[in-house]
Amino acid sequence: MINNPFVNAQKQLELAAKILLAHTKNALEKQKLTQKLETLKNPNRILDVTLPVTMDDGSIRIFHGFRVQYNNNLGPYKGGIRYHQDVTLDEVKALAFWMTIKCAVAQIPYGGGKGGVIVDPKELSERELERLSRAFARAISDNIGAYKDVPAPDVNTNAKIMEWMTDELRIMNDELRIKVKENELRATFTGKPVGSGGSEGREEATGKGGLYVLLAALEKLNIKNQKSKIKNNPTLPPLNLRGGEEGLTVAVQGFGNVGFNMAKFLYEAGFKVVAVSDSRGGIHVPDGLNPQLTLGCKKKNGYLAGCYCVGTVCDLKKGKTISNEELLELPVDILVPAALENQITARNAGRIGAKLILEMANGPITPEADEVLNRRKIIVIPDVLSNSGGVTVSYFEWFQNLKNLHWSKEQVNKKLKKYMDKAFDGVWESREKYNTDMRTAAFLYALERIIVSSSRSLKEV
Ligand code: NAD
Repeated sequence: MINNPFVNAQKQLELAAKILLAHTKNALEKQKLTQKLETLKNPNRILDVTLPVTMDDGSIRIFHGFRVQYNNNLGPYKGGIRYHQDVTLDEVKALAFWMTIKCAVAQIPYGGGKGGVIVDPKELSERELERLSRAFARAISDNIGAYKDVPAPDVNTNAKIMEWMTDELRIMNDELRIKVKENELRATFTGKPVGSGGSEGREEATGKGGLYVLLAALEKLNIKNQKSKIKNNPTLPPLNLRGGEEGLTVAVQGFGNVGFNMAKFLYEAGFKVVAVSDSRGGIHVPDGLNPQLTLGCKKKNGYLAGCYCVGTVCDLKKGKTISNEELLELPVDILVPAALENQITARNAGRIGAKLILEMANGPITPEADEVLNRRKIIVIPDVLSNSGGVTVSYFEWFQNLKNLHWSKEQVNKKLKKYMDKAFDGVWESREKYNTDMRTAAFLYALERIIVSSSRSLKEV
């Protein structure tokens, strides 16, 4: 069965909308709410762009891309740009919708947007990638800006690409004699290199935010990262975590920006990372692996297989190569999907071995799989909460650009922790208020802000 991410996103919205309506008793209020919810079923605007790019051999190749501006009730559209061969309009629409929910959960003054270009960047040289990125920035230039729509990196895009795009906008403005203040130009993109207006701590913010959310969840669930102290919250189903003295065990799918940083922070916080994977497959090291050393090994070899490092020792006998499918089903305490959508579906949800799932990718679990996991009492901490650290520090970057500030990494991390804790507490309270699962609770919490209050402001951070 093909899982369409936008259909899945709509199902998640419907579920939350039904609960919100059920809690609204007044008939007129109900009618107003229904109308407002209707506006969230489709994006405000879709840009569908064609990008002719000169290749290194002089030929012209045509690429296609999208920018979806979903909703701006709470502020400018905000969301990353993805480069991937499987990008579709429905995927970008789903990601833009989830950004709308996520920014509201994170309590930052943004709406939701997302961009995508259909391309396998591994097939392009660096110069071709630069030309493609500049062409995309040109194509969407009329519709982006610090107070209109603020793109950022996502899968297969990075700080360098954001720098190229910012520079292309600067060139265009000069050509067209359009005057834009330098700080506002910089604030049009986030996730830039630190030397070009980027924020300290942005690169690893999504992983760091994920760690803060996980720690907050474990505290609420009354689970300590040591066997002797495990004491489950009596109001929740027992989790029966396996961890033990050596730390709770974790498997991480995806070893890019989010997956690697997440694994690194978990390792540093005393969790036992027993498996990681990327698009070519993964490794399972029951004694635990060191993500930093594993990354070094992957860079050297080009793949993860064979990188079985424990501490500083890399030993082939200590681990084995596994597929992504196997990684998802490992009997670990915590599973962290940090790659792409639709990884846990109705097909494999019954075989997931973890007791708690921290969604770091966007949309890794389908609604059908959610039902199975809920039935199996596996706790899911949803993407719109757990990976919101990235966009939160993007907000800090934008804010620093607009106010000509530069914060240290310590300042950024302190503020990030404050925002993540606030978002977590809000979702947790919503879960108790509506007596529902964490994803639906997060949606309800966001809908209350997007639909009911909807105020736009540049808040002090
Ligand atoms: P990335 O390009 O840096 O890394 C993606 C990783 O996933 C790579 O290691 C790749 O090999 C791996 N991968 C691809 N297909 C896979 C598959 N089928 N199975 C296993 N691994 C696979 O991208 P990223 O920025 O780390 O983004 C990962 C996820 O996190 C995406 O869903 C993205 O939307 C989400 N996200 C990213 C950010 C951010 O700040 N970068 C913020 C919030 C959410």
